[in-house]
Amino acid sequence: MKLLEERIQQDGRILGDEILKVDAFLNHQIDPELMAAMGEEFSRLFANDKIDKILTVESSGIAPAVFAGLSLHVPVVFARKNKSLTLPTTVWAADVYSFTKQTTNQIMIDQQFLKSGEKVLIIDDFLANGQAVNGLLKIASQADAHVVGAGIVIEKTFQKGRQILDEQGIRVESLARVKAFVDGQVAFL
Ligand code: 5GP
Repeated sequence: MKLLEERIQQDGRILGDEILKVDAFLNHQIDPELMAAMGEEFSRLFANDKIDKILTVESSGIAPAVFAGLSLHVPVVFARKNKSLTLPTTVWAADVYSFTKQTTNQIMIDQQFLKSGEKVLIIDDFLANGQAVNGLLKIASQADAHVVGAGIVIEKTFQKGRQILDEQGIRVESLARVKAFVDGQVAFL
């Protein structure tokens, strides 16, 4: 998606060999107009999949997921990372290793918000090593929900996330595909 690639070129910052910081429009400050355009693009890509619900993980997946939900007219459920007192004991749960934080978190979804047979679209901000999406796939499998695919805002193709999802037969649609960081610049596929 050209608009997103231009924004990454303009405001993205490269940290070390593997991390792209996009705090100016996605991960800290959020650009609602860009999110709305991305939501429409996800909606276009998955228009024929009869999606019942979108799943994401807090917190950075929520903004793109909500705009995709708005365009697709479906509810959005985000997995929680911290066990809240208000969360019931009847949850679907999976462990997720965080690439950026280098810790393992449990992610949870209240069972009442994900039911057997529902067709779900997973949305997340980044695809790196596939751990976050994989955690949501495990949760969907526990609930016996059907995953139609994963919509990713920024995929880093030099990490193994897509391979892990391909091996499970999961359709992946990424709005920007970063192939490398070259001389401090982001190169797209
Ligand atoms: P994965 O689970 O695919 O290994 O990593 C995806 C998750 O890690 C995303 O939900 C995102 O929060 C975080 N992440 C991975 N790579 C990056 C990156 O380059 N920049 C930022 N800001 N977050 C990342």
